[in-house]
Amino acid sequence: MAEAEAKVIQIAGSITVDELSKALGLSVTSLIGELFKQGIVATINQRLDFDTAALIIDELNIKGVKLEKKNTTTQISQQRRELSEKAVARPPVVAIMGHVDHGKTTLLDTLLHKKTVEGEAGGITQHISAYQLEHEGRKITFLDTPGHEAFAAIRQHGAMLTDIVVIVVAADDGVKPQTIEAIKFAQGANAKIIVAINKIDREGADIPRTMADLAQNGLQPEEWGGDITMVPISAKRGDNLEKLLEMILLTSDIEELKADVEIPSEGLVIESHMEMGKGSVVNLLVTGGELKTGEFIVAGSAYGKVRTMVDFKGRPKGKATPSTPVTVTGFKELPNFGDSFIEVADEKTARKMALLNAQAAQDANASANVTSTDLLRMMSRADNAKVFNVIIKGDVLGSVTSVVDSLKLIDTKGEITLNIVATGVGDVTENDVYMAEGGETVIYGFNVGVPVNIAKMAARDKVSIRTFKVIYELLDDAKREMEKLLPEEVVETEVGEMKVLGVFRTERTAIIAGGKILTGNAKPGYLAKVVRGKDEIGEVEVESVQLEKMDVKELAAGETGGIALKLNKRLVVEINDRLRFFTREMKKKTL
Ligand code: GDP
Repeated sequence: MAEAEAKVIQIAGSITVDELSKALGLSVTSLIGELFKQGIVATINQRLDFDTAALIIDELNIKGVKLEKKNTTTQISQQRRELSEKAVARPPVVAIMGHVDHGKTTLLDTLLHKKTVEGEAGGITQHISAYQLEHEGRKITFLDTPGHEAFAAIRQHGAMLTDIVVIVVAADDGVKPQTIEAIKFAQGANAKIIVAINKIDREGADIPRTMADLAQNGLQPEEWGGDITMVPISAKRGDNLEKLLEMILLTSDIEELKADVEIPSEGLVIESHMEMGKGSVVNLLVTGGELKTGEFIVAGSAYGKVRTMVDFKGRPKGKATPSTPVTVTGFKELPNFGDSFIEVADEKTARKMALLNAQAAQDANASANVTSTDLLRMMSRADNAKVFNVIIKGDVLGSVTSVVDSLKLIDTKGEITLNIVATGVGDVTENDVYMAEGGETVIYGFNVGVPVNIAKMAARDKVSIRTFKVIYELLDDAKREMEKLLPEEVVETEVGEMKVLGVFRTERTAIIAGGKILTGNAKPGYLAKVVRGKDEIGEVEVESVQLEKMDVKELAAGETGGIALKLNKRLVVEINDRLRFFTREMKKKTL
């Protein structure tokens, strides 16, 4: 078939093995066979995702077929919209990022003149929120995202709402892994970068070295002819923070940040949780239009009427303009963090849209039970499936240690390597989920909790969190998980034996013989080893068994009957041969 005539197969989310085989003009068995070769045991009704279908077509070297994604989602567009003539200036949305302990929280605290460092659970900020402050009569919105995981989630949802990323680097510590991650994030999100070289009050602070470090990582300081503004600060003492704010405003002026206000309001869900007496409490960042109380809004499969709206300090607000973070109540169910929201005309539209979004999400997520990740994993099973990745969280250090030590004691007969990705004291956090994402890592919690938002995030990212109060139960679970990683082995089970007393008909590919069952039984579907004297001369498959020339389900021990055998090679079965019946299956090894 010529390229131009390529047949187009449209896939909406996923396609069943049956549908794909029909579309390809291929038998279901050969498709299942190919999947099996890749290590996937599939049934005719199994659903394959787009990439898996594409990989299989590639593996089978089928030409002249083109796969196309059929778009079924009715999700609100999460791209930044084209601005109209009427767009007005809006405050910049700034994220503070950087390596742990380099002073992000301190910087935000000092900027906001409020202390939250002491209040943080275990020193780790649990969720993203947003604040707004004023400098020289102009507003700046800060996203509080001490963990980068929140950003990963936002990025996943395609919404690039950060205009400026302030990368905090401690002058006494230099560029560290999360600094590099922050640089990559900012570049990926197309955000402007400003570097805050922090802790300049410290003795070991070395500003030139930090700048050189940053230059080596692709950020050229303005002083050295590059385009990155770097401001030496002390977040703790407050040195130079005015300068930093000025630089933020200057950058935002150059960027000419604008938004439309004469459109239905829209934005992003940046946090959501349930509160006693209030129901859903949702933090939103408005990106367009003006959000007002009384409006109907939809975010993914959740919708509601904005009942109350307050700013980040809890002060009531009747209307929120672009770049404003607000907390609203009124959603009937919790929207997901990272979802876009949009204002609609009335409750009926809201309900309908939420339903459509729910269905679209279901189509996109739930329908494929074989995904390309599975496939790729299977393909490379030999090299990486034998590592069991875990993150261990415990209530106290002692319990973490004992869980880790006990896990190490599980005898895996050298088949599995235990990889402890991370350990920690306290509840499961966003960072744990972030680390576990995509890496097939199980998070074990011993005597700790899982906050609702973390559980939701984990469910969305398909990360497994398991909590236990009894260590043996945790260990049993880990053992079961490890067993799942063990390779399959071929297991043959002997089920019976027959002595051949006569051979009635021989063809090239089949034989009908008669004989007596000595032990066990004979059934259609069994395999049999043909044994002559002491030698095994071949293998045959039992097609059917007969008793007094009638097909039966089984020949039992002691019975004499007929047997139709399928030969895979040209093999002659003779009188006095023995047929040793057996079954052959693939079975998981056990520990
Ligand atoms: P984060 O993990 O990046 O949010 O870092 P934190 O804001 O929690 O700061 C980590 C530690 O560094 C805390 O003990 C802060 O008091 C300290 N710190 C932050 N900024 C400064 C600074 O400018 N000077 C000094 N000396 N210490 C700072």
